[in-house]
Amino acid sequence: MSIVELARPEIQALRPYSAAEQVDDTVRLNANESPESSDEGRFRRPLNRYPEVRPTRLQQELAARFGCARDQLLVTRGSSEAIDLIIRTFCRAGVDNIVTHAPSFSMYRHYADVQGASITEVQTHAEQDFRIDVEALLAACAATTRLIFVCSPNNPTGTLLPVADLERLLEGRRQSSVVVVDEAYIEFAGEPSVTPLLERHSNLLVLRTLSKALGFAGARCGAVIGPAPVVSMLNAVQAPYALATPVVECVEDALRNTETAAASGDRIVAERKRLEQRLSGFEFITRVWPSAANFLLVKCEDASAVMRHCERSKILLRHFGGELGDCIRISVGSPSENERLLQALEAFAENAGG
Ligand code: PMP
Repeated sequence: MSIVELARPEIQALRPYSAAEQVDDTVRLNANESPESSDEGRFRRPLNRYPEVRPTRLQQELAARFGCARDQLLVTRGSSEAIDLIIRTFCRAGVDNIVTHAPSFSMYRHYADVQGASITEVQTHAEQDFRIDVEALLAACAATTRLIFVCSPNNPTGTLLPVADLERLLEGRRQSSVVVVDEAYIEFAGEPSVTPLLERHSNLLVLRTLSKALGFAGARCGAVIGPAPVVSMLNAVQAPYALATPVVECVEDALRNTETAAASGDRIVAERKRLEQRLSGFEFITRVWPSAANFLLVKCEDASAVMRHCERSKILLRHFGGELGDCIRISVGSPSENERLLQALEAFAENAGG
């Protein structure tokens, strides 16, 4: 059985939107566009024309960068859009289920709620360094579990799922669920992407984003990678002309500067290591979890007091409730931003002591 058959029947039958043809050197009176452009030639494709239905060159470049074939990749508006497309493609409202681990990225639940799919969260625990237990994920699956979201490295815990565990999960649900591995932070992990597993596992989808290590959060650009027939269904669900001309051109141009992208990832990892060491030195920080991402999760004696103090110093950190009540997530900034944080924490420690 192909995993295409796990998709909603109406999506399996859906054909992509049929867009007006776009051919260079023709008189184009087929798309109700304006004949005039006021963009003053800033873009290679003038703004009075629709963008390509799908940005083919960018798709090619991202496929080469992420190590897959062109027809195995769909360019999306950030990986957030990919999460939405996958859930809408595979989950029937009021019927199908999603399994994931918690705490993790809140968008899985958000889009599950939008679609009316139920979501089962398997808790991970601070005492076990938030290890993702694949046997527990398998045990949580029901007959209607269409999707399993695994975030690796996980936001907000920084945990990486070992490849052998992922393969166990893929095998365990080979015929019955699609396993979506969200690799938003993989460039900081010192481990390769799991994309090569696509050759052996037909129920794997991988999410990548340009928002983190590549530094293009403002451009809203990401990708979903998977078996070509599944990518083709996601393509039919995505809005036509999803990626705007200025975004496509700006990302295409910026991606040519690949050295900068790699170097920036390395700089963040070096800063993360420095920050981890310094944060561990504060008495009021009782735990700094190992992180494979561009942030650190720390446990404090009084997280709310640390948050208030940092806010007064005009430094924003992320404080979650629930299981993570005493924990704060700190994104790794530039060396000078990190220094400002450390100074603020030193002042907090002095006040707390005095
Ligand atoms: N996945 C994870 C794990 C994230 O933390 C984020 C953003 N914080 C995203 C996906 C979405 O990122 P974007 O839409 O910018 O690609």
